[in-house]
Amino acid sequence: MSAVKPARRQSTPKLLPPDLYDLTEADKERALQEVGLGMLAPDSPILNQRAKEVDPAAITSPKMQAVIDRLLTVAGSQQKRDKSGKKKRMLVGLAAPQIGEPWRIVVVDTRVTADRKRAGRLECFINPEIIWRSRETEEGREGCFSAGPVWGLVRRAVALKMRAFTPDGKQVERIFEGFTARIVQHEIDHLDGLRFPDRIKSDKKRHWVHTEELPSYPENIRRWPRICTRERWDAFKQGKI
Ligand SMILES: [Zn+2]
Repeated sequence: MSAVKPARRQSTPKLLPPDLYDLTEADKERALQEVGLGMLAPDSPILNQRAKEVDPAAITSPKMQAVIDRLLTVAGSQQKRDKSGKKKRMLVGLAAPQIGEPWRIVVVDTRVTADRKRAGRLECFINPEIIWRSRETEEGREGCFSAGPVWGLVRRAVALKMRAFTPDGKQVERIFEGFTARIVQHEIDHLDGLRFPDRIKSDKKRHWVHTEELPSYPENIRRWPRICTRERWDAFKQGKI
């Protein structure tokens, strides 16, 4: 899952024409960078498939440790400098299928908050399962390195309990709330071949956002003029856009 920093009030919103769905040069450049870092393109069929369970006895094998290392390396490399020159991680979660590894493994920043003022602990979980989720749900903004220009408002449980294995092969149960609960649900969906736009029921809440517009998106999300219909999302997933 990717994050965008909320825009500052004084920033001038840069919005492109609402009927512009063609990818801009900035969109194409961003997509190329992501592929260069090891991400699959959004039209890769593996992103729509259910990932395989890892045999718990094999978690500590060199083969699985190499997959885990690669996932952590790609997740940790998604950094961008902010205005003060401080490095900020743009990625708050990543699932193994996104880098072409068909295993049930995810990485989650377990410290990050929605305002991104706190971040910085990437943890890896193998065969994660949600064993309890709150009845209370809330809508929140999501984007994804495997969804290109599609962003949206997704309804998710506000808290959950997850059972998983850690990279040293131990089974753990963890409780997540708020933004981290959202990331965990988003990443586990990837393991089931689902991406967040698939979860959005109303087209009005699925948006097409160009790279240049990202700083303006958070403050305009409730009245974003360029929606992404399910048909358009399906076409994008198939590489037809
Ligand atoms: Zn994602």
